[in-house]
Amino acid sequence: MSLEFLADELEAIRAANRWRTQKPMQSMQGPRVTREGRRVVNFASNAYLGLQAHPDIQVAAQAAVRSWGTGAGASRLLAGTNELHQELERAIAHLKRTEDAVLFSSGYLANLGVLPALAGKGDLIVSDELNHASLIDGCRLSRASVRIFPHADTAAAARILEAERPRNRRAIILTDGLFGMDGDLAPLGELARLAKRHDAILYVDDAHGTGVLGETGAGTAEHLGVGDVDVHMGTLSKAFASEGGFIAGSQELCDFLRHRARSFVFSTAPAPAPVAAALAAINLAANRPELRARLQENQSRFRSGLRGLGWPVAEGVTPVIPIPIGPSDAAMRAMTKLEEQGVWVPAIRPPTVPEGTSRLRASVMATHEPRDLEAALSAFQTLTPPKEGLPSAPLSS
Ligand code: PMP
Repeated sequence: MSLEFLADELEAIRAANRWRTQKPMQSMQGPRVTREGRRVVNFASNAYLGLQAHPDIQVAAQAAVRSWGTGAGASRLLAGTNELHQELERAIAHLKRTEDAVLFSSGYLANLGVLPALAGKGDLIVSDELNHASLIDGCRLSRASVRIFPHADTAAAARILEAERPRNRRAIILTDGLFGMDGDLAPLGELARLAKRHDAILYVDDAHGTGVLGETGAGTAEHLGVGDVDVHMGTLSKAFASEGGFIAGSQELCDFLRHRARSFVFSTAPAPAPVAAALAAINLAANRPELRARLQENQSRFRSGLRGLGWPVAEGVTPVIPIPIGPSDAAMRAMTKLEEQGVWVPAIRPPTVPEGTSRLRASVMATHEPRDLEAALSAFQTLTPPKEGLPSAPLSS
């Protein structure tokens, strides 16, 4: 088959000003990184707790390579499971206060495998419009009937359920916990009430909230005091400084997924080093509440600093801070101007976010020092804030 069409497709990407380049870093992840040979303050990664270069976690990963080798060698149901996998699943279940947890090679693969396992033809998925791509793809693979509600609009979700729930076998209410591009939280309390009223499953992707929010770092549900989430999804690649995804929930749910989630059954088990790193990070974070406290202090100081400079940034409790710009070329120019001053805040443009809502997305870490935040704020002083915030103004709770 001819691949000639690719030239046209690539030209279309360039013409739409959507060409992406990857500028490699020359240093470890951290609050300051070296990029294109320059030291910059890093507001671009999801390493919220700043553990990516932590020596204890590195030692755990190295020890795992010595004890268990470099690759798992087979899928979990064949020869791939070792004691580390199970220890990590127990640690995740403990963190989420669930009966069990199932580990996947990535968060993306978790959502891709789990949604089609839980729902199919004749079932209904009611999904927030800003849900992550992996949830959208999991919905598509499931072949369930998918109904989208406007972001965080629980009245709209209720109307969909009232109209369509009776015609469907199972129903899932699907939402991110902490929305990764908007930095706001799902209205989990109301969604849980809807789930109960309509006999639906509440499935929460808390990739960004896990390890970050809540008294013990269990995530958005803990922060909001919502106890009845049925399916807790999360990732080990952000606060927990490794890679891998998980589902935490009841014993029955986890047993079922170990039989029916195709991305669990047919994919090689996660390698020992990242499994050990994630386990070390979860244990470390559990014993260091001051990391979460420092993250809170930093995010709140940065938000109020930006507001002081006239930026329409909401108050909030999350380390994801969207800084509205609007047109995508303006967002690119703003990013470049900050970068010239040694501050890296990535521009987020379509297709990641809707047209006209391009933004800078600052991701704050527990390990940013006051001088890092000050450097960023003085760089922001050289930009002109827009008059209005993002169209779907982030909730701040
Ligand atoms: N869900 C959300 C909300 C995410 O932000 C991400 C990662 N960007 C994922 C799932 C996928 O997780 P992973 O990176 O572990 O594949």
